[in-house]
Amino acid sequence: MKITGTLINYYFVCHRELWLFANGINMEQESDLVYEGKLIHEESYPERSSKYEEVAIDGIKVDYYDAKNHVIHEIKKSNKVDRAHEWQLKYYMYIFEQHGVTDVRGILEYPEMRKTKEVMLSDVDREEICLMIGEIESIIQKDECPPRVKKGLCRNCSYFDFCYSEEPDEASGGL
Ligand code: SF4
Repeated sequence: MKITGTLINYYFVCHRELWLFANGINMEQESDLVYEGKLIHEESYPERSSKYEEVAIDGIKVDYYDAKNHVIHEIKKSNKVDRAHEWQLKYYMYIFEQHGVTDVRGILEYPEMRKTKEVMLSDVDREEICLMIGEIESIIQKDECPPRVKKGLCRNCSYFDFCYSEEPDEASGGL
């Protein structure tokens, strides 16, 4: 299975979410979130599509690549899972490198908060990514879905109903 940016992101957010998504259990809300993400892109930077390229290689899809300056722009709604966003972007940079594009930089953008963050890829990160790919593959191949991880983020997760339908009290009180 190709490792996508979404899988890298879920690896940092929740292993159960990673497993569910990778094993084809998708919730309808997922498409709503994708649509919402696209709206943020278009409304925040209406001119951008004409200036930057969309690049799809090796399982990843980058919406805005500044080919002239070798910069990948990744736009996010909120910085709640900042670390996941950062590694998703590092993974994009890593894949670009694997395909011969060097000196790639990344910029995370949070238009609703008017915040940006530059992301660089170090040698340590490259090693981490190699390990991460192995761990992701092993999680996905498990026969059983990993246990639920109770987090504040569960409330906004598309699998919330799936994970908590049996325990409404816990879901409303514990998160
Ligand atoms: S609802 Fe929580 S435990 Fe379930 S997949 Fe989402 S983040 Fe993971």
